[in-house]
Amino acid sequence: MQDLKLAGNKSDRTILNLNGIALGGSEIVLMAGPCAVESEAQIRRAALHVKQAGGKILRGGIFKPRSSPYSFQGLGVEGLDYIVEAAREHGLLTVTEVIDPQSLEIVVNKVDILQIGARNMQNFQLLKLAGQSGKPVIVKRGLAATIEEWLLAAEYILSEGNPQVILCERGIRTFETYTRNTLDLSSIAVVKSLSHLPVIVDPSHAAGRRDLISALTKAAVAAGADGLLIEMHPEPEKAKCDGAQSLRPQELLKLGQGLVQVAKAVDRTFAGPQVTEESLETLRSEIDKIDRRIIEALAERMEIVRKVADYKSIDKVKDSAREKDILHRLTGYASDLGCPAELVKGIYTLIFDSGVHCQIKSKLVGGSELSVIRSH
Ligand code: PEP
Ligand code: MN
Repeated sequence: MQDLKLAGNKSDRTILNLNGIALGGSEIVLMAGPCAVESEAQIRRAALHVKQAGGKILRGGIFKPRSSPYSFQGLGVEGLDYIVEAAREHGLLTVTEVIDPQSLEIVVNKVDILQIGARNMQNFQLLKLAGQSGKPVIVKRGLAATIEEWLLAAEYILSEGNPQVILCERGIRTFETYTRNTLDLSSIAVVKSLSHLPVIVDPSHAAGRRDLISALTKAAVAAGADGLLIEMHPEPEKAKCDGAQSLRPQELLKLGQGLVQVAKAVDRTFAGPQVTEESLETLRSEIDKIDRRIIEALAERMEIVRKVADYKSIDKVKDSAREKDILHRLTGYASDLGCPAELVKGIYTLIFDSGVHCQIKSKLVGGSELSVIRSH
């Protein structure tokens, strides 16, 4: 193709250095995160899970180009610090979408990678500005763009003197309705034959459903993708956008594990999930917080148990039937939540004993029952 003066084939493939992360070399780079940054807590949780799954780059839209003007449009500037901070906390890089010159100017000095979305692939003014930014740019393939048009979009950025272009296949519109779009896996091989640029694949927007993500991701790596852009959400059911296609944290982790072998099979590498010192620290601090909440709840329970003593005579302090009833309810509830019933039984035996002890003590110290006991 004559006009692909810069994007067109050269003898060597381009390996980009994204602030220390090589893209286009032997290693598969995983980029993941929610469709949109929704809150500080949401993106921080997402960052932790991305890191644990072996991800290197945190994604999250703060300016969302939505098909409907009534859909969530993103947090805007407020979300920028949240994603930057969350990524920094876990040693991840950041990628976010720019939709116009203003949004580009707002994020350009704060994030590591800019994303031009499918709907803006032929926004030539935006492509030129992204080219002038000097930042790495992900160019998503338009919903109805040919490979040639997609590569020409990349050419716009390159021709502004910015060599850091990443092509992203994200599915194209076809007659098929079982999926949101159709993932064109052949484009990976075609682009690799036409261009030296790294190619990544976004299976999420192609599939529109989380149950297909694992298969499409593995297929993309087998087909030669250099990296992946995957949507995940700490609680997809609560997602403000694209929840149905967002992986749950455990699913991302499992996918990370599965990718290790697929990468190896095609002579690539993917380090896979790892519990780093940093994420271990974070997990431990979460456990510490939960432990405090457990103690606070126990103290609150004890306080009420003491009050209950006033309503009982001393021979009725231990109520085995009620204990049995509580245990039955709680072990059922615990199993629903995936918590072992044995653990709940063990803990509650101690809690009941301690409650009885405490009630007897408070009655004895209370005085009146004491005389009753003595007089017997
Ligand atoms: C996105 O990545 O959040 C997005 C909107 O994707 P696309 O531009 O591919 O539809
Ligand atoms: Mn999305």
